[in-house]
Amino acid sequence: MHEHAVVAGLIDALNAQLAAQGITQVAEVRVRRNSAFAAAPMQMAFQMLSPHTPLDGAALVVEESYYRHICPNGSCGFRQVVTADDLIGHLYICPECGTAEEIDEAHGIEVLSVTVDDTVIPVAVHPHPHEH
Ligand SMILES: [Zn+2]
Repeated sequence: MHEHAVVAGLIDALNAQLAAQGITQVAEVRVRRNSAFAAAPMQMAFQMLSPHTPLDGAALVVEESYYRHICPNGSCGFRQVVTADDLIGHLYICPECGTAEEIDEAHGIEVLSVTVDDTVIPVAVHPHPHEH
């Protein structure tokens, strides 16, 4: 699952920021995923990777945005909201004309905010997927 690598990169970057700010316990992490980014592997990765970090026990709140794909084939232009079920690996295949396009999952998720106690702290996390 490629989502796992993307979430792992995100959590690493987040933990580095929390450490730099001296934060040892987070209450809530709010993220937004687009609809092409599968939800289940994201929750799984968070559960696996958060123990022994400031994210241990934090609530992961996921907002969803719609990934609206427009077929790059100019004579087709088919539009569709893409979900993870529409992808084959990273590829989206247009159901109208068969044009394949790679969807970059690294852009499928972003951290919106982190709450420590009752305070929302600023974060700027840009995920870099781990390479395997
Ligand atoms: Zn098309």
